Amino acid sequence: MLEGKGSREMSELASRKPPQLLSSFWPLEDQHGVGHVRLDGEPATNGAAAMPLLLELAAQSEAMRSLQTAEGEELSKSAASVLRGEMAEGLRELAALVDDESAEIIRLRAKGIAGGIDHREMTLEIARSGRPPALEIVCGPLCTWRMKTRIGLHSFLAAARDEAQQELLDQLDDSLDDALRAVEAEIGAPGMSVPFKLPMNVTDLLVSAGEAAGHPKHFAYFMPEDEGVDGLALEEQRTLYMRNVHLARYSEITIPLAETLLDGPMAATDVPVKATLMPWIRGHDHGHNVVVPSTTYDSWMETLGIEPFMALQEAIADVYGFLMCISDPWLDISGVSRLDMCATHMAELLHYLRRGPQYFGDPGAAYVELSFLVENGFVEIDQAGRISWNEEDFCRGMAALASALTESTVAAADEQGSEALLARYGWPTETAAKRTLEAMQRELTNVPTSIAFYRTSDVPAAENVPVPA
Ligand SMILES: [Zn+2]
Repeated sequence: MLEGKGSREMSELASRKPPQLLSSFWPLEDQHGVGHVRLDGEPATNGAAAMPLLLELAAQSEAMRSLQTAEGEELSKSAASVLRGEMAEGLRELAALVDDESAEIIRLRAKGIAGGIDHREMTLEIARSGRPPALEIVCGPLCTWRMKTRIGLHSFLAAARDEAQQELLDQLDDSLDDALRAVEAEIGAPGMSVPFKLPMNVTDLLVSAGEAAGHPKHFAYFMPEDEGVDGLALEEQRTLYMRNVHLARYSEITIPLAETLLDGPMAATDVPVKATLMPWIRGHDHGHNVVVPSTTYDSWMETLGIEPFMALQEAIADVYGFLMCISDPWLDISGVSRLDMCATHMAELLHYLRRGPQYFGDPGAAYVELSFLVENGFVEIDQAGRISWNEEDFCRGMAALASALTESTVAAADEQGSEALLARYGWPTETAAKRTLEAMQRELTNVPTSIAFYRTSDVPAAENVPVPA
């Protein structure tokens, strides 16, 4: 009967789950804006021929991402299958143009997207193929922000290694043990070591599309963890760092926050960030992996909760990283002063804090750090949330915080000290740092919260086109 069929169709329709699009990422009550940043690099080998291919892959990747729900489900299997075939073809064409090392990995990625190799297997093969390539390509699932989605959504990234910066990074790594001896002496914690130096490729982002181009953006990816492959040994992981994105974020977001909120011996605009940001992130990266002989805190996440645990982790990485950066061996290699590094860290704290200490590890860490510094008299915060700082006290404060964190986490027998530290300095405890956060939310809503990329062709986009009468 017609009527019966109709009602069955209705009930099937009613029971079908609608595709879930992404939930809002930023808190709805805040205002958000983007600053525009131009990307203008090219691959080192055959750049002119490779660029059109990269842009085509980016456009196909946008289309691919648009076909996915927030759970990564494909809304049109046939359209997705055609796109995957075309992207695999494009990647193979690209591989024929670039250097051999990069080509080998791009061919693996082509095989991956065409379904010729399991995704996890592919990322493992890439991780085991040695030094990261000069041209980094990702064309597949990426997990961006934990609160946004934990599912890998289609993304495209092309990034070219900056050989001069890579050489500097290698020098920093070679003197990591000397830097650690300096940190030990500073905070009185013997036996510090970094068991494995995660490879880090220092690149400039050339093109990004799909989920990776959503807001907000990362300047680093942890591979292959961010490709949705978990549970790997440290030796099978590496960091893809996009230095031009980090620099752009500093100029677009950090500087305007710091200009209003900081009063110290060096303005954020005078910081030589082209020299300080790479060592800063390298120090932070190693800081995550510092251990002392009694380190046992890997299993604390359950007791402390994931975000507080992450906030502690990020604070540890920040303070150890900072102390490595101001060690003599690292200052010599970076060619900057201790004050340059202090001003970098101070300004960047604001950027992180502003993302909301209740939401993520990095802002939670910024809150702990700033709270510790102000509550112990190393910096001052006035009633309007303005921060006054000086080099000597800031460095003493970071060393004191490193000692406190070492005692309560890295070298602690249990998590009680960490709980106490978080209760005193962590969100949502009312410290003077809250005034700075409120000042940002009240007065600095015009400062971008994210950046958007563009590339221009040779023809200016705004050139007048004659309109026929
Ligand atoms: Zn970190």
